Amino acid sequence: MSLLLPDEAVREFEHCNKCGFCLPACPTYRETGLEAHSPRGRLSLVEAAWRGELEPGAGLAEALSWCIGCRACETACPSGVQYGVVLTHARRDLRRQSRRYVVQNRMTVPLLTLVTRRSWLRAALRAGRVMGALPLPAGLKGTLALVPRESGQSLPGQAPVPRPGGEVPVYLMGTCVMDAAYPDANHDARFLLAAAGARVLPEDTREGCCGALHLHTGDYEAAVGLARAAVRRFDAMLPPEALIVTDAGGCGAMIREYPRLLRDDPELSSRAEHWASQVHDLATALSSLPNGLQFRGQGATVALQNSCHLIHGMQEGSAPPTLLATVAGDRFVTLPGQDRCCGSGGVYNLNQPAMAARILEPHLREVREHGVDVWIMNNPGCALQCERGAREAGLSARVMHLSSYLRDRLV
Ligand code: SF4
Ligand code: SF4
Repeated sequence: MSLLLPDEAVREFEHCNKCGFCLPACPTYRETGLEAHSPRGRLSLVEAAWRGELEPGAGLAEALSWCIGCRACETACPSGVQYGVVLTHARRDLRRQSRRYVVQNRMTVPLLTLVTRRSWLRAALRAGRVMGALPLPAGLKGTLALVPRESGQSLPGQAPVPRPGGEVPVYLMGTCVMDAAYPDANHDARFLLAAAGARVLPEDTREGCCGALHLHTGDYEAAVGLARAAVRRFDAMLPPEALIVTDAGGCGAMIREYPRLLRDDPELSSRAEHWASQVHDLATALSSLPNGLQFRGQGATVALQNSCHLIHGMQEGSAPPTLLATVAGDRFVTLPGQDRCCGSGGVYNLNQPAMAARILEPHLREVREHGVDVWIMNNPGCALQCERGAREAGLSARVMHLSSYLRDRLV
């Protein structure tokens, strides 16, 4: 049986000239040195399975399960091959016809159910915190170690600071994992946006999942359904000129994918185009709002773990380090691995914990060697991954979301 792929995926791998420029950018190739775990190798395997020259189980299932989906290969590719499009459709069909692929990604199913129900996700994190303290088998203990120790105290009574300006309507997407794991970071982001001169629109407590994790793992139909629901919700509740701001790079990159996912939807395709053009990351938004913010540091050494999807999906990866460099009184250091994947990859660190840990290891070394006091994150998956890694490595660095760090230093 061959792999079934749409034309948009076939066009991409047919466009690959096998030059190999993407190989050094790929975290799994860097770790293994194996062609099958490189972007070029994966594209070749998908093409062979599509042509019917390779069974779409076994080697292909493993190659695509080990891919983090970070999309660093897209930025590195001089020919503009959109590897992510191939990955999405190949995983979609593998879910249908490869039991091996489904088994290798078994942690995906409960998580995809949880993220569509925020109250369930919050309850699961609370339960995970309690269970993490119990004597359990090592594998389960390792998974539960991803649950952040502190729930993050939500600050419901704290209204954003009124300051002059307030003409630009801005909606901060709370996003499911941020809302459950780091609710304080969402409050801090709203506070900063208001201070920067935005008219912060009310939080939508019914906000659903954007579908990023579903798309990432090949549950294509669910991702399209969630994209439709999100576009309809934006249309119903936001003025057309509203900016949508995310403090989770993966979710922002997903909204940028909506035009492609809804291209054939006569009702929603142009609306998807519109909202994709209105979405920006928090750092970009803060830099473009009318009130310039001033920050006072506390003598700390600060480093950033930049989100892959913010860099390679949204192409807004330069805004966070630029903003961090403006915090006078702290010392911002650019770690060699600042823009390299940390191994989180949505649910990757649940399905492939050993490879995720190997990919994180050099980052932890750099944090230690540079004497980092505060390690900044701009995506919840990276925060969970790096927080656990720092804790287990005994690092003193405090992992903070960008918004909480900036609010802490706001003058
Ligand atoms: S850099 Fe682009 S064209 Fe070259 S091998 Fe990688 S994906 Fe193919
Ligand atoms: S998405 Fe990331 S892990 Fe997957 S092939 Fe591309 S660079 Fe490698």
